[in-house]
Amino acid sequence: MDRGTRLLPHGQPAAYLTFAALTALGLPNATTTRHCPGVLSFDEPISAEHPVSPFRADAVRTLGAAGLDLARVSYAKQVHGAEAAEAPAAGGFAGTVDILVTVAPRAPLAIFTADCLAIVLYDPEAHALGAAHVGWRGTVRGAAQAVVAALGPLGARPERLCAAIAPSIGPCCYEVDEPVTRELAQAYPDHWEAWATPGRPGRVMLDLWSANEALLRRAGVQPARIENPRLCTACHPELFYSYRRGNRGRLATLAALP
Ligand SMILES: [Zn+2]
Repeated sequence: MDRGTRLLPHGQPAAYLTFAALTALGLPNATTTRHCPGVLSFDEPISAEHPVSPFRADAVRTLGAAGLDLARVSYAKQVHGAEAAEAPAAGGFAGTVDILVTVAPRAPLAIFTADCLAIVLYDPEAHALGAAHVGWRGTVRGAAQAVVAALGPLGARPERLCAAIAPSIGPCCYEVDEPVTRELAQAYPDHWEAWATPGRPGRVMLDLWSANEALLRRAGVQPARIENPRLCTACHPELFYSYRRGNRGRLATLAALP
């Protein structure tokens, strides 16, 4: 299976990619590349006190072509946690959280990354949508499981959820050391070693893709409904920003209910 073909590029060079699986379910969606104009960088942090939309007019226009109405987009100050918030009905700042959920049609959720995972979850029967920002700390804190749990009160059932994992740093490029492995081992003593391969002395190459796929499965998501193109942000500097590579730009992953 050529998993890479499940992400479709738009524009030349591609300003954003779409998940074919989410599009097939009727969800407007996009993960921006470094060629998408108007997405604010990490040098312009999202402030809880003075929230300003992280999308400028040219991003609003570009992502409008993907069917995303950014006048109604919700976003958060992301802090590598596992707290969830329901997106405000009119869009805008949703709080200091790493998980957004909604049942409002055509109101996009936005997650910002530059190596971390953005995970989108959708229950097509309950018409409930969630999105999460998940790095190693979010993995330790159980953000993937938390977004499944946060969708429950909105009527979603884990076994019906479709999951998509946006381009993020792969096990090819994600070397971590003892402070990270210690926390992973504490959180998942019976599982974490399956997500790590030995690297240089005292280091491992960490596979956050496999970890979060496993955690989604443990939360009840069907393996066949997890889309992961396994596209590494650090391996593709022509397309993506990578924090590990010293970039300050943000990639945005957005999805909205039909
Ligand atoms: Zn890589």
